[in-house]
Amino acid sequence: MKTNSKNILLTGGTGYIGSHTAVELLNAGYHVTIFDNLSNSKIEVLSRIEIITGAMPEFEQIDLRDEAELSKGFDKYSFDAVIHFAGLKSVGESVTNPLDTYENNLLSTIYLLKVMRKKAVLNLIFSGSATVYAIPETLPIKENNVLGADCPYGRSKLMIEEILTDLSVSDPEWKIQILRYFNPVGAHPTGLIGEDPSGIPSNLFPYLSRVAQGVYKELKIFGSDYKTSDGTCIRDYIHVVDLAKGHLSTLSRLDHSSGMEIFNLGTGHGYSVLEVVKAYEKASGIKIPYIFTERRKGDIPISYADPTKAEHLLGWKAEKTIDDMCKDAWNWQTKNPNGYIKKKKE
Ligand code: NAD
Ligand code: UDP
Repeated sequence: MKTNSKNILLTGGTGYIGSHTAVELLNAGYHVTIFDNLSNSKIEVLSRIEIITGAMPEFEQIDLRDEAELSKGFDKYSFDAVIHFAGLKSVGESVTNPLDTYENNLLSTIYLLKVMRKKAVLNLIFSGSATVYAIPETLPIKENNVLGADCPYGRSKLMIEEILTDLSVSDPEWKIQILRYFNPVGAHPTGLIGEDPSGIPSNLFPYLSRVAQGVYKELKIFGSDYKTSDGTCIRDYIHVVDLAKGHLSTLSRLDHSSGMEIFNLGTGHGYSVLEVVKAYEKASGIKIPYIFTERRKGDIPISYADPTKAEHLLGWKAEKTIDDMCKDAWNWQTKNPNGYIKKKKE
């Protein structure tokens, strides 16, 4: 195994994207420490990471909104950089309960930044989102496209971007990379880690997986009259392992950059909902029943990234295809029909 003396803190590292990033960092020889309050993830993730990589990340159950605990956590380790995944990500819940989303996402980030400054850890990668873009006037979406989120979740991400901009202006010692993810999907090819949403999934892939599994009788496709080739919405789905590797490239970039930079992480290709259904049927060998329903409020018709800035400056490019995404999502689903299950006590 390669070695690299750097220790990277992953906040929210037991979550979906954080766990896949932990695997890529450990495989590259980094030391990994995770702070997570386990509000949307399971401790079982850690042993799965160990099975894949042969290395167990350090773990502290810390809520980032507890500044004192966070500070104690930083005292225990020495970090070279922080990748800040922790946050609430549900668009629907952010609409019904905006205060929870704002409280969690903003306070976590502010306390994290304060503690990082106090401990002189000034290298940060932040999990941004394509939801910060307004309905695009031009496609593909470049980093300088017009911004304008239309839900509290997206606005919390925009607010954090503004906080990070102010921080970077106030002190040039900070090195900050904002990664705007498009639609992360799929799972690790081993089927050991993947997306494990609680309750009824609101996103396309986990819902589709449950329809294929027979948990739900059909997929409801939200809208069939968009101005797209087949009338359904188009998104830039990116395999979560490609996305995780993007963080590895960004860590290298931190060493040679200054100030703040923003990158889209997407494939640059859009697929319609019907195209995804077809690809999932091919990967699973299962016919997916679906019906068309009303448009979902707030959905934009077409979103896909221009990822060329990341390609040029990070030296990163997504490699996996929509077929890989479906194959790995289905592999995870069949191997973990109930998501992560806690091991029974011996
Ligand atoms: P996730 O919910 O699987 O992971 C987030 C993790 O953060 C969870 O393990 C949760 O327990 C933890 N957490 C939440 N609040 C915390 C707090 N106050 N203190 C400590 N830990 C806390 O989500 P994910 O899909 O892995 O997303 C990671 C990041 O990427 C999030 O910031 C999300 O907004 C962003 N993002 C995700 C997507 C996506 O589709 N998954 C798209 C764009 C951006
Ligand atoms: N979608 C759908 N049925 C579902 C979930 C999603 O038709 O049960 C559609 C949704 O309208 C969007 C696409 O699938 O066009 C991707 O939705 P998702 O929520 O996964 O991502 P986002 O809309 O946040 O980009």
